[in-house]
Amino acid sequence: MRRPEVGDLNPPDRILMGPGPSDVHPRVLRAMSTPLVGHLDPAFIEIMQEVQALLRYAFRTDNRWTIPVSGTGSAAMEAAFANVVEPGDVVLVPTNGYFGARMDSMARRAGGQVVHVHAPWGEPLDPDDVRAAFEEHRPDVFGFVHAETSTGALQPSVPELTAIAHEAGAFVIADTVTSLGGVELRVDEWDIDVAYSGGQKCLSCPPGASPLTLNDRAFDKVRNRGELVRSWYLDVGLLESYWGEDRSYHHTAPITAIYGLREALRLVAEEGIEERWARHLHVAGALKAGVEAMGLQMNPRDEFWLPSLNAVRIPEGIDAKALCRHILITHGVEIAGGLGDLAGKIIRIGCMGHSAQPRNVLNLLPALADGFAQQGIELDAAAGLAAAAGALETD
Ligand SMILES: *Cc1c(COP(=O)(O)O)cnc(C)c1O
Repeated sequence: MRRPEVGDLNPPDRILMGPGPSDVHPRVLRAMSTPLVGHLDPAFIEIMQEVQALLRYAFRTDNRWTIPVSGTGSAAMEAAFANVVEPGDVVLVPTNGYFGARMDSMARRAGGQVVHVHAPWGEPLDPDDVRAAFEEHRPDVFGFVHAETSTGALQPSVPELTAIAHEAGAFVIADTVTSLGGVELRVDEWDIDVAYSGGQKCLSCPPGASPLTLNDRAFDKVRNRGELVRSWYLDVGLLESYWGEDRSYHHTAPITAIYGLREALRLVAEEGIEERWARHLHVAGALKAGVEAMGLQMNPRDEFWLPSLNAVRIPEGIDAKALCRHILITHGVEIAGGLGDLAGKIIRIGCMGHSAQPRNVLNLLPALADGFAQQGIELDAAAGLAAAAGALETD
């Protein structure tokens, strides 16, 4: 085997406005270059407790069992399903997006019997449909996606959904990967039993440590399982030995990822969680006003527009892949095309965390117009910029 000739690492300088990852604040990158301590060092135990307190703040919860799972958002997601779903449990999941389908797949692997509640891609679940699905299937666990990154649709009326589930004695698992730290989310007030998230969306942290919170009721279900959790690595009962009182070794925590998450969450706390939600609304509102003034349409209706992920419809004849590539290579901005039922029909523009800045919106609108012009469609970039600037001036 010849010795490979590999030069210095020199990734291009991008602005990340796709479905994640988002741009990372320099303070987070600095925190991630500080020296390692051991995962059982008393100094690290203190850092763990700080991260837990900061996570509770961001989730708006008092749940004792709130930790960063080692891995990306999908690891926290798998931890939620693998632990809460017991073999034979009936698990109700949505069909209105890519991540609902991933819930289906994970619940099955945990031994669950999956049943569905339907809504078209790009629309949220209707509480009446959820109620009907509960009557028909009597599920033990209900999963829903608060912010569907594949469609740009926000799930409103969360307290109504959790009430339906709890009246039936079921447990609720919420995917909050693209909402935590970006749009209003109140785990305790909305009575969510289990919520998981990721670092690289609205928390603007490199992927690697992913938030998970369980209330006591869900934790008791996990503790009283008749069968072992099918994942050793993600077994909440085993993780408790490290994150709980014992502080004994389970697996080596990703120290650097936890440093990064700590700093990202510290930025959230400094800004204030509600102020951060307001910033996302404000900046993404300007983006929305801009694209609409340029003659484009948002895919979701205004009532369930998701500020952190803006799904914009593209006219027939536009090649989304070529469009995104042009904007990436020529303008240095990452955005994405659609998935599943919406492939070729939308583009997805993230407005998450550190990327949710006015100047990014003002840069992107002309870049978007240029990308469309490359494919022979003229958009009114000046009108877009004027509308966005106008929206940014209001509060
Ligand atoms: C990104 C995402 C995930 C998965 O997170 P990864 O970090 O990619 O593993 C899950 N759910 C939603 C809604 C997401 O946007």
